[in-house]
Amino acid sequence: SNIVAIVGRPNVGKSTLFNRLLERREAIVDSTAGVTRDRHYGKSDWNGVDFTVIDTGGYDVGTDDVFEMEIRKQVQLAVDEATSIIFMVNVEEGLTDTDQEIYELLRKANKPLYLVVNKVDSSKEELPATEFYQLGVEKYYTLSSATGSGTGELLDDVVKDFPTTDYKDPFEGLPKITIAGRPNVGKSTLTNALLDVERNIVTDIAGTTRDSIQTLYNKFGHEFVLVDTAGMRRKSKVNEDLEFYSVMRSIRSIEFSDVVIIMVDATLGWESQDMNIFGLAQKNRKGIVILVNKWDLVEKDTNSTRDFEAAIKNKIGQFTDIPILFVSALTKQRILKAVEVAMEVYNDRAKKIKTSRLNEVMLPVFEALPPPAIKGKYVKIKYCVQLPTPSPQFVFFCNLPQYVKEPYKRFTENQLRKHFGFTGVPIEVYFRQK
Ligand code: GDP
Repeated sequence: SNIVAIVGRPNVGKSTLFNRLLERREAIVDSTAGVTRDRHYGKSDWNGVDFTVIDTGGYDVGTDDVFEMEIRKQVQLAVDEATSIIFMVNVEEGLTDTDQEIYELLRKANKPLYLVVNKVDSSKEELPATEFYQLGVEKYYTLSSATGSGTGELLDDVVKDFPTTDYKDPFEGLPKITIAGRPNVGKSTLTNALLDVERNIVTDIAGTTRDSIQTLYNKFGHEFVLVDTAGMRRKSKVNEDLEFYSVMRSIRSIEFSDVVIIMVDATLGWESQDMNIFGLAQKNRKGIVILVNKWDLVEKDTNSTRDFEAAIKNKIGQFTDIPILFVSALTKQRILKAVEVAMEVYNDRAKKIKTSRLNEVMLPVFEALPPPAIKGKYVKIKYCVQLPTPSPQFVFFCNLPQYVKEPYKRFTENQLRKHFGFTGVPIEVYFRQK
C-alpha cells in the first residue's frame, strides 16, 4: 500500500494533520473498536484511495543532540519507507535553518514531496508564507490546523501522484507469510534455515512490491511465499534497534501477507515491541503464529513451555487462541513444525463455513444461552452467515442488535472457535437487524 510520511520539526503541527487524516477514517470506515491504535501509524483514504500515514515525529526531544538525531531519523524513515513525503513547516516561526537542512535531505530521496505550510490559526491567515519559496519549490500548500482547511487540496495531489502499479504479482493465489519480530530475534536465521535446504528451488524476486522481496518456498508438500521487506535483510545504518523504526518496517510486509509468524526471543520474553507487532497483525486480520526462538539457550524444567506460554497469553489480551511453538532457528529444531502450523492457520483463515452448517450449530447455542434480556426485552438471533471476506467475519441477524453487548460477542466468538476451529485467526462478529 502507499505510505505517506509526515516530516518536520517538532511542534510545527504534524500530529494535528496526522490525527485529522486518521479521524476521518476512524469515523467513517474503521469499525474495529477496542483495538488500540498505534499512535504513529494509521490508515486513511481520499477519493477512494487507501493509504497509510506515518507521523515520523512521535518522540519527545530534549537536548540539541537528540533533536539532531531525531530529525535525521525522521528523514531516514521517510526516505526508506514512504511513497510520498509531506514536509511540514510553520508560518509563525517562518523558514528556519533546520527546515532548509531537512528539505535538502528529503529532496534527494526523489519521491513526491509536498511542502505544507501550517498556519496554526486561521486568524493569522495574512502572515506571509511566500518566504518558503526560498526552498526552491514551485508550489506549497497551506493548512489551518484550527479549521482543517487546505487538507483537501493537498490530498488531491498526494493521491493523484501515487505511483501506478502495473505490477502483476507472480505468486498470486499462493499463501503469503511474513516472519516478523524485533531485531536480532532470529528472523534471518529462520529464513535462511528454511530456504538454504534446497537453493535450486528457491526463487528470489526482488522489487516486486516497491522494496519487498518475495521468496517461493516449495518443499515437504508446502508451497508458500515468504514476504520480506528489503529493510529486514539489508540492515540499515541508523537506529536499527529503535522500536518505532523496526515496527514501521514490518508494517508493509504484514499488510501484504496472510499469515504473520511472530518471533519472540526466549531469553528476553514477550515485550512491548512484540505486542506492537501482534497488534498490527491482529488489526490487519492476519493469521498469527508465535514462535519462541532461541529455545536452545533456555534452561528447561518440566513446566518451562507451559509457563512461558501462559506468560505470553496473559499479556496479549482477549485473543489468545494462538499457536505458540518453541523453536531454535539455529539448530533448526521444530522449524518444519512451524511451517506446518503456519499453513494450518492459513487454511483456517481462508475457511468458509456453509450457511446451513453454521445455523445448525449456532442457533441451538443461542437458544440454550441467549443474550441477557435488557429491560424485559429479549434478543432473538434468527439467522447467521459468514461473509465472503479474506478473513472470517460473521453476521448474526437478530431483532435487537443494540442489546448485544461485548461479553456476548466474545462468547459468540468463542463458540465459533470451539465448533469450527479458527486457531491463530482473528474473527469478527457483527450483530445486525434483519
Ligand atoms: P534478525 O535480526 O531477526 O534477522 O536476527 P538474526 O537472524 O540475524 O539473528 C541474530 C543473532 O541471534 C545471530 O547471532 C543468530 O545466530 C542468533 N540466533 C538466531 N536464532 C537463534 C537460535 O535459535 N538460537 C541461538 N542460540 N541463537 C540464535
